[in-house]
Amino acid sequence: MTLPSGRSGLLLVISSPSGAGKTTLARRLAGEFDLHFSVSYTTREPRKDEVQGEDYHFVSPERFAQMVEGRQFAEWAMVHGNQYGTSMATVNTSLANGGDCLFDVDYQGGRQIRRLWPAESVLCFILPPSMGELERRLRQRATDTSDAIERRLAMAHEELAHYGEYDYLVVNDNLDQAYAKLRAIYVAAGCTRVRNDALAQALLREAATRTPCPKP
Ligand code: ADP
Ligand code: 5GP
Repeated sequence: MTLPSGRSGLLLVISSPSGAGKTTLARRLAGEFDLHFSVSYTTREPRKDEVQGEDYHFVSPERFAQMVEGRQFAEWAMVHGNQYGTSMATVNTSLANGGDCLFDVDYQGGRQIRRLWPAESVLCFILPPSMGELERRLRQRATDTSDAIERRLAMAHEELAHYGEYDYLVVNDNLDQAYAKLRAIYVAAGCTRVRNDALAQALLREAATRTPCPKP
């Protein structure tokens, strides 16, 4: 199946240490383009302002375990002491409709998505400008307890250590500039030859059947 433009769908994965800005950037991209944001399942408690079914599907550990058992996740992982998972049905439906899908997942999720859909996956890692700024953002976001913030800062090293598995690195210093880079990556990923091969082939076939113009 193909997009109206004639190209096949892609899976854009965005990862980063917690607080680097991936959710901010991902939401902005999904707001500008016809890009389906994959809403993950998690056993984490909702933060204030988070909406059930929009930010996450918040589920009990028992429900999460049932979903694992029922093979309903394309991937799932334990991150910062909670479980998070990507719905297999969401990805399959998006690809079957020729649409693009956006994932805000950790490096374990990115790795699994690439393993399952190597041709469709584009992996982008968001870097903070410095570790000091990462900590400042986590604290000013004020959504986590100070214990949770410490845990997230401690995990930043583990997440950063996997930047080498990603296709693109974007430093999120100035938000508008970082967004312009992420946007450019997404637009360019949609223009690769493999994603537009069906359209090029159709044009080639049509061109071959045209009667040649009479010579002047
Ligand atoms: P993540 O999803 O990676 O944990 P968020 O998108 O929640 O990070 O961003 C963490 C905090 O930093 C939020 O309060 C967000 O508004 C802020 N933030 C994001 N990008 C920038 C930026 N470029 N400059 C300053 N603050 C930012
Ligand atoms: P947060 O609790 O801050 O929303 O997310 C914590 C971490 O879990 C982030 O690194 C985020 O990208 C990751 N995450 C969110 N959803 C998923 C998912 O479905 N799978 C995996 N592997 N990681 C996820």
